[in-house]
Amino acid sequence: MALIVQKFGGSSVADAEKIERVAWIIAEKYSEGNDMVVVLSAQGDTTDDLLAKAMEINPNPSKREMDMLLSAGEQMSVALMAMQLEKLGLPVVSLTGWQVGMQTNTDYSNARIKAVSGERVRAELDRRRIVLVAGFQGVNSYDDITTLGRGGSDTSAVAMAVALNADLCQIYTDVEGVFTCDPRKVPGAVKLEEITYDEMLELASLGAQVLHNRSVEMAKRYNVKLEVLSSYVRKPGTKVKGVINVEQSKISGVAIDSNVAQIALMGLTDQPGVAFRVFRTLSQEKINVDIILQSSVGRSETKDISFTVARSDMERAVEVLKENQQMVGFKDISMTDKISKVSIVGAGMMSSPGVAALMFESLYDAKVNIGMISTSEIKISVIVDEKDAERAMSSIHRRFFEA
Ligand code: ADP
Ligand code: ASP
Ligand code: MG
Repeated sequence: MALIVQKFGGSSVADAEKIERVAWIIAEKYSEGNDMVVVLSAQGDTTDDLLAKAMEINPNPSKREMDMLLSAGEQMSVALMAMQLEKLGLPVVSLTGWQVGMQTNTDYSNARIKAVSGERVRAELDRRRIVLVAGFQGVNSYDDITTLGRGGSDTSAVAMAVALNADLCQIYTDVEGVFTCDPRKVPGAVKLEEITYDEMLELASLGAQVLHNRSVEMAKRYNVKLEVLSSYVRKPGTKVKGVINVEQSKISGVAIDSNVAQIALMGLTDQPGVAFRVFRTLSQEKINVDIILQSSVGRSETKDISFTVARSDMERAVEVLKENQQMVGFKDISMTDKISKVSIVGAGMMSSPGVAALMFESLYDAKVNIGMISTSEIKISVIVDEKDAERAMSSIHRRFFEA
């Protein structure tokens, strides 16, 4: 018999009927004799609703209190699921992040897991109980509740799988697996049987929210057997693993990320140390920078630097740069959050020339203008106008997968 960690996302446990459906999935595996640890997210839109409640009272709450509030959603889910399993006559216990020893750092709202003690869980499994664990939450060295960032329940599940040395970690969601593109946005999207950790990590980091990127990072580090599948349709999902058997196509997927903003600094002096001053100013504020573009074409003394940040960081980034305008040394600054990042990911592109050309051709076909370009070994990203992003994604997808 195996130790299985399952995770069910918010839409899978949105109401009483769905909770019952999920309970049967858990019950089936449990009655086969497996040890079951089940991580749950908050029901439906609960996390967003809690956020909205907070905004009504204080648009600028401390992150500590925000975590205290948001963690309540997952706690509700595990208690309700426990009641449903009790009704089916199954032995069950629900536990919070603190109770399972999910220790994190002190980065409220985006905490990283440092260790999972898991003793309580093991003791409960020894008693043949189904253990339900509140996802998305942990506890820090001050004994405060922390949360792991939006979508973080996937990471809770993988962390439990690592701590318990589970045989399998199954992420149940509202689609049948990982697709070549968001199946809600591109009807022609194709389900992947398998995908490598590296490709999944890129896709998740580039906007495919089907898995929290840190869950994939952790699964890769500890070689967790990971599977994404549907809570509604009984079909094999997608296996995420180190090496895959199916023949590699050039690219495995297309992703879109709207959480992007661009800042441009104009008229910087063309001297050593200028980029250092710009990016040190931002890093001191813990603002992450993604794509960077520098140009000084046609001028000898000045240059411009453009870069992208998360939308939520845009205003703060502009503010600190303006506060430090003298020291950084730029003439003008501009910003926009009306952009998106569209990316293709695939380990196969390393060995097949022409992938970039095909991508740019499909953007040309869709009459989409490219703002910035960034590449790595297994991905190409472009920044485009927000209103063009879905058209760009569909056109790229058509070129690579629907031909
Ligand atoms: P959960 O609540 O179960 O955690 P999420 O909403 O976080 O679910 O993630 C599932 C959603 O991810 C899907 O409904 C789908 O719209 C979206 N998604 C984006 N890109 C992809 C992709 N490449 N494959 C599958 N789903 C994707
Ligand atoms: N409930 C949290 C969120 O909405 C965590 C999760 O769903 O994974 O982000
Ligand atoms: Mg999710």
